[in-house]
Amino acid sequence: MQGVLHQADGKHLLVQFGGACYDDSKLPLTSVLCESSTLVGGSVFMARDKEKAREYRSIYEKKHPDRVIASRRKYKEAHQQGLREYNTQYSKEWRRKYPERVKARKATAAYKEKDRLYKKQQRHSIKIETFNVYGGAICVCCGERHIEFLSIDHINGGGLAHRRTIKWKGSGFYSWLKQQGYPLGYRVLCLNCNFAIGHGGICPHSLTTS
Ligand SMILES: [Zn+2]
Ligand SMILES: [Zn+2]
Repeated sequence: MQGVLHQADGKHLLVQFGGACYDDSKLPLTSVLCESSTLVGGSVFMARDKEKAREYRSIYEKKHPDRVIASRRKYKEAHQQGLREYNTQYSKEWRRKYPERVKARKATAAYKEKDRLYKKQQRHSIKIETFNVYGGAICVCCGERHIEFLSIDHINGGGLAHRRTIKWKGSGFYSWLKQQGYPLGYRVLCLNCNFAIGHGGICPHSLTTS
């Protein structure tokens, strides 16, 4: 089911994606239908009222769910870029228009959980990226490989003071390193080795191995 181009009334454009219609003139248009018309099984029914149009559409969708899916997929593939831009713009506009709904949505448990997982994933990936730049996700002193135990160490010391001056803790420090283009002078150490070196100037590991 390919869209059919109709002259709109100058004010409204109905864009057909398979069965669903989107009323917006900013969309990348292949199929433009006049207001309150709908495409049913390849032919266009001019429905005077929107109710009727909706009814026809739903009958068609129920009768040919496969065609609707195929047509939507085809449309999406042909207009990826435009649709992405449209969606971004639309969400932005929606958030601006309905701040209270955005707030309500953010307050839901589902949103919080999703957000928590997303942030966790972000922190994890930036850590991995940083470790890879500084020699891999392994402690240079003891060979510890568990990500949870690894950290970035300021080779010449003063790491903590430095972090305080840039006012970034945790994963913010990794972002900072990235922003700075990963400067030299850092290495990967596990928390144990990092702590020992920070307090005694030397890690017990290097005493036992030598
Ligand atoms: Zn270590
Ligand atoms: Zn060590």
